[in-house]
Amino acid sequence: MVVPGKGLIDGLKVTAKTLGRRAVTEQYPDVQPELAPRTRGVIALMEENCTSCMLCARECPSWCIYIDSHTETAPSVGEQARERSRNVLDRFAIDFSLCMYCGICIEACPFDALFWSPEFEYAETELRNLTHEKDRLRDWMWTVPAPQPIDPGPSVIEPIEAIEAAPSDAAPAAGSASAPAPREGGSTPPIAEGEE
Ligand code: SF4
Ligand code: SF4
Repeated sequence: MVVPGKGLIDGLKVTAKTLGRRAVTEQYPDVQPELAPRTRGVIALMEENCTSCMLCARECPSWCIYIDSHTETAPSVGEQARERSRNVLDRFAIDFSLCMYCGICIEACPFDALFWSPEFEYAETELRNLTHEKDRLRDWMWTVPAPQPIDPGPSVIEPIEAIEAAPSDAAPAAGSASAPAPREGGSTPPIAEGEE
């Protein structure tokens, strides 16, 4: 039998139960979300580094990178030198309505011309506006975070003389089972000082 108003009461019960809990939703766009600095937001193009090699476009699984270029011939430098040719980028565009943010293009680029930017606020009401041409992709470069500092490595690096001199007591005796075997066709490895 259907009790009139049961659905409403059940709904109010759920509301009452969750009233005291902390909300897990974020109030975007009133409150900006706290994203990781390396968030995959949008792809930026360092146009100066791009050689129009097409590697990124060929590797892209979504086929959403469009590149047009032409070749220009630069005059020879010396009398014997040949004329040089170079690619000039005419168009570089990424269609973000097709992109799946896999990052393969960035990994594939051998000239460090593509970077992730954490910027994500570029929603459009027109689908075609999600194709970003090279000027817009170049502008995203301003939002790319600085590279992380280089790992300083171990804090203490022992000088090689200290390593060579240290294990004289602990080293296995020459001729014992654990002593290093002579190399094939070569001489016996050098014996540390104090082993003789
Ligand atoms: S992130 Fe992936 S899908 Fe998007 S443009 Fe690069 S390779 Fe293509
Ligand atoms: S792989 Fe890099 S250098 Fe080659 S076309 Fe793509 S962005 Fe330009």
